[in-house]
Amino acid sequence: MKRFDFAQAGSTGDAVRLAGASSRFLAGGTNLVDLLKADVEQPDTVIDINRLPLSAIEAMEDGGLRLGALATNADTARHPLVTARYPLLASAILAGASPQLRNAATNGGNLNQRTRCYYFYDTAAPCNKRVPGSGCGAVGGLTRIHAILGASSQCIATHPSDMCVALAALDAVVRVTGPAGERGIAFADYHRLPGDEPWRDNTLARDELVTAIDLPAGDFGAHYSYLKLRDRLSYAFALVSVAAQLRLEADGRIAEARVALGGVAHKPWRVPAAEALLAGAAPSEALFRQAAERITEGAAGQGANDFKIELARRAIVRALRQAAAGRPQSHTDKRIA
Ligand code: SF4
Repeated sequence: MKRFDFAQAGSTGDAVRLAGASSRFLAGGTNLVDLLKADVEQPDTVIDINRLPLSAIEAMEDGGLRLGALATNADTARHPLVTARYPLLASAILAGASPQLRNAATNGGNLNQRTRCYYFYDTAAPCNKRVPGSGCGAVGGLTRIHAILGASSQCIATHPSDMCVALAALDAVVRVTGPAGERGIAFADYHRLPGDEPWRDNTLARDELVTAIDLPAGDFGAHYSYLKLRDRLSYAFALVSVAAQLRLEADGRIAEARVALGGVAHKPWRVPAAEALLAGAAPSEALFRQAAERITEGAAGQGANDFKIELARRAIVRALRQAAAGRPQSHTDKRIA
């Protein structure tokens, strides 16, 4: 591990002032510490932000909810306002990692965790995300966990978060602060596709700090499901996951639909045209399959992950069926309903 300076920020202003081109913020450390130990991340300075007052989860005047960036994933998933108003988010968080990790991992850290591409963690392998211009070890390599949507010739990695898939479906806003002041970033614009700059996971500047995540008001009731498909039932990243929410009219028709995919792209994947297709229609298998085809339009595998295309389509249909019936996927009994 490369030696680095260690600083503790006493305020958000401090944290921003200390930040530079070769610094990293340390919160729960559940990803960063591994990356430091493996020499994947080699910052000059690590800035501990754990003393900052960013752990609150608070109702906002407009009916929304503000999640502090330093609130842990565990505290967020079991907060009464989250379980009552945003059960999709609680469900997605509980589908991720392990209880121990969720007790330490923070909301801000969850957003900024790095891909789990094997070649990214192997410093002997080429990786454009780790060393720009070095090539991509995954192309032509082991690609079971890699992207089927939005990839580039430079990088075919996926974003590993479950929480972020739900946040995408919820139209969350990421609150950040930096030298130019505060700003809010729509969740769809926070993470990015790899393009020609796969080393940039998101649109956050190096000297900007995530302070909170805002959830807009909205009531989808019991018509949601977070369905996660993986190689083993616990403590594994998604091959494919689906966050689905439906708001139903009294006659059972779909008034509004949200569908986001995880495990398939460099960012949570949402296709507004597919959601528009669902709106106003009566729930049916045929309709859900049509939406699934639309969401995965243009999907392409690398050979070993071709199966994810049909898996994603079937998972979308199943998650929408679960949401429409008001029977969300359980993450206690992990059997797929
Ligand atoms: Fe690196 Fe992306 Fe290629 Fe993985 S897929 S080796 S993260 S460039």
